[in-house]
Amino acid sequence: MDLIKSKKLLMHVGPVDIYEEVLYAGLKNNVGFTSDEFVDAFQSSLKRLRYLFQVDQTYQPFIIPGGGTSAMESVTSFLSKGDKVLVVTNGVFGDRWLNIFKKYPVEVDYLRAEPGEYVPIDTIKEKVKEKHYKLLTLTHVETSTGVRHPVKETVEEVRDYVDLITVDGVSSVGAEEVKAKEWNVDIYLTASQKAIGAPPGLGLLVVSENAMKYLKEDNVAGFYLDLRNWLPVMKSMEEGKAAYFSTPPVHTIFMLNEALKLIEDEGIENRVKRHEKVAEAIRAGIEGMGLSIVAKRPEAYSNTVTGVLLKKVKAQDVLTEIVKEGVEIAPGVHPALQGRYVRIGHMGWVTPNDAIITISALERVLKRLGEDIKFGEGVKAAQAILS
Ligand SMILES: *Cc1c(COP(=O)(O)O)cnc(C)c1O
Repeated sequence: MDLIKSKKLLMHVGPVDIYEEVLYAGLKNNVGFTSDEFVDAFQSSLKRLRYLFQVDQTYQPFIIPGGGTSAMESVTSFLSKGDKVLVVTNGVFGDRWLNIFKKYPVEVDYLRAEPGEYVPIDTIKEKVKEKHYKLLTLTHVETSTGVRHPVKETVEEVRDYVDLITVDGVSSVGAEEVKAKEWNVDIYLTASQKAIGAPPGLGLLVVSENAMKYLKEDNVAGFYLDLRNWLPVMKSMEEGKAAYFSTPPVHTIFMLNEALKLIEDEGIENRVKRHEKVAEAIRAGIEGMGLSIVAKRPEAYSNTVTGVLLKKVKAQDVLTEIVKEGVEIAPGVHPALQGRYVRIGHMGWVTPNDAIITISALERVLKRLGEDIKFGEGVKAAQAILS
């Protein structure tokens, strides 16, 4: 028996630790995609997505296979040949939009921030005033650096200049304040395995009435991710009738439905507050031990991901050693900071105790590896936040 291994705490950026009830909800035999039980789960998941993203009946929810990337790529369903797109990128996942659009016959411009920063609102506003864009993409929390973009404030400034605004909320929805309708965002998307805390396998989107007008036959999307093919399934399921376009990940949808139910039970505001507190404790722990955070300013701090800059030790050594202490964290993936930082994911079902365990394990590992830290001061600072 390996006690440390079997009790390991997963503080990753997705998939994250999964609540037991969520896992059990997927343990089902003999459930076809036309069964009443499945149609019920699909129907209530669609309804619950409206709560999660804070939208009403005017928004169309979609549950599609894949994950964050399939949800992102499905946004090509709203674009026609030659359309102009502006990508605002604060890191690796913002850049993913560029890589997606390069595969399609659309024109793409971008604005890119330094690692640890987000593109200033004024810069975005200038750009959209200069040229008419059909679509603007933002990344709410840039998972590669843990930087949160001020979505609400940006949309307020640029709304009148672009037709459609899409926000990648893969690392934010379920853990940060998200009000898709009030903020006037057309397409808000996420995936099942991050802040929602279900297993991987699903891309989730809500789409405004305004955006649905652009879901046209001449769109540039491929076959599988053309939302025109998925729309009849969503409509039918919402009415409680089975429908097929391509086999849905049945068991994952049962688990998603349970996760969304638990989110409702907790209440989205409480859930955001819980994440805020844990994130604050983690940051206090990092700074307390004398290290810096990748996100450069408090306005850029997120509730879900913290990048930890290392002084002397190698990131890979920290990752390997901390697993031996019973905690798994994530590598740093921003090319400009390669090997110089690690990421702590704190989303989903994360608790204050998880923050303390993580900071204490990190302190032990860093001390052992010879990093220049104030040993014990991290836990002390995190405790001060939590008590
Ligand atoms: C993880 C992530 C994605 C990609 O999601 P996958 O499910 O891995 O395809 C996209 N955007 C952000 C912000 C992410 O964190």
